[in-house]
Amino acid sequence: MHSLSNRAKVVVKKEMTLMEKIYLPAIFSGMVITIKHFFKKKPTIQYPEQKREFSKVYRGRHILKRDEQGRENCTACGLCAVACPAEAISIVAAERQKGEEHLYREEKYAKTYEINMLRCIFCGLCEEACPKDAVYLTEELAPANFDRSNFIFGKDKLVQPLGTSAHPKTYKPYKK
Ligand code: SF4
Ligand code: SF4
Repeated sequence: MHSLSNRAKVVVKKEMTLMEKIYLPAIFSGMVITIKHFFKKKPTIQYPEQKREFSKVYRGRHILKRDEQGRENCTACGLCAVACPAEAISIVAAERQKGEEHLYREEKYAKTYEINMLRCIFCGLCEEACPKDAVYLTEELAPANFDRSNFIFGKDKLVQPLGTSAHPKTYKPYKK
């Protein structure tokens, strides 16, 4: 056979020895390996009853934080969306109206804030880019779902619920 790389090897069919022909030693050594695994510490855990401790630098789903008075921190500046390498964030800004001072911290706020969790790679760059301490990655896993549209997280899922802590270790998101 002509070979350009010259790495081709001719395979020779080797005759089996008597020990190979009776198969039993090979079966026995295979069984020994299998039985050894019964006594090894199992790497699997009974999730969700058992949970592994996350790494200190684990980044999970996002929240949009409120300030100590319960007002939304986000001013819809768009820096997180610009910083996002996956183009997962989309924002529509609006102006705060009279009487809404208790809802939004500054004159501008995010009327719509959406993160496409199917695009997100949980890099945390949005959190780093935010000048208002508004977007934050928690230790919560983004929940699984069968419908792609449910992976678009809007403000209903992202804004920190009133009266809760925004700390990533103790944060509890809305339950669906
Ligand atoms: S964590 Fe990264 S990929 Fe996800 S929304 Fe933020 S910047 Fe985009
Ligand atoms: S989350 Fe932060 S960076 Fe993103 S739009 Fe709001 S204030 Fe700007």
